[in-house]
Amino acid sequence: MRKPIIAGNWKMNKTTAEGVALAKELSALVSDAKDVDIVVCPVFTILASVKEALAGTNIKLGAQNIHWEAKGAFTGEISPAMLKDVGAEYTLIGHSERRQYFGETDEGVNKRTKAALANGIVPIVCVGESLEEREAGITEKVVGGQVVAGLDGLTGEQVAGLVIAYEPVWAIGTGRTASSDDANAVCTFIRKTVAEKFGADSAAKVRIQYGGSVKADNIAELMAKSDIDGALVGGAALDAAGFSKIVKF
Ligand code: PEP
Repeated sequence: MRKPIIAGNWKMNKTTAEGVALAKELSALVSDAKDVDIVVCPVFTILASVKEALAGTNIKLGAQNIHWEAKGAFTGEISPAMLKDVGAEYTLIGHSERRQYFGETDEGVNKRTKAALANGIVPIVCVGESLEEREAGITEKVVGGQVVAGLDGLTGEQVAGLVIAYEPVWAIGTGRTASSDDANAVCTFIRKTVAEKFGADSAAKVRIQYGGSVKADNIAELMAKSDIDGALVGGAALDAAGFSKIVKF
């Protein structure tokens, strides 16, 4: 049985005081949540403060990105060891906004994923098709390609321990959610792809989230589906009351 995982992507929001306040408000609301992994991913600048605010709670810290190099002349990047040092246990990798606005590629996703795993940080590898790709009927080709390239060279055991977030680009921040059936169909396809590449055991264990305009009123239907093990939540993660309802789907 896969443990559900609900992650909040705070994107480029929250100053230190705001992030700490949100973390404290949220932790009070979800302290009784059981059998679910809860993760929040604030901006780099407030990771340390939010980590401190989350001490002793059931909420884990995640980063929004990770670089693959250990250190050196990579201005503006953050290394795996630095994230580990600040207490991050998870990191988003290949979020569609990184792919869309910052030119991140499947090759980079693969390097970041390997670097995270090598440093004991759980990757949340984001994949998803654009509206044009969906309308052209190539969703599986695109998503399958991202999964295969992003996870290339990993062991079955490594894949079993990571998280894949299926986020159709057209559903992110648009208020347009994929229907639970459509979302599940792609998550099932992702699991099948993992089974073909890494074996049935890894496929049975890897957790697959859906992301794209998830809210308190659509989470239960999504979570009831066979291959959806959690959610990656953007906008609705900025509101403690709303996010706590998602966590307690
Ligand atoms: C996201 O940022 O990963 C996301 C799914 O955003 P939203 O929930 O706002 O659509």
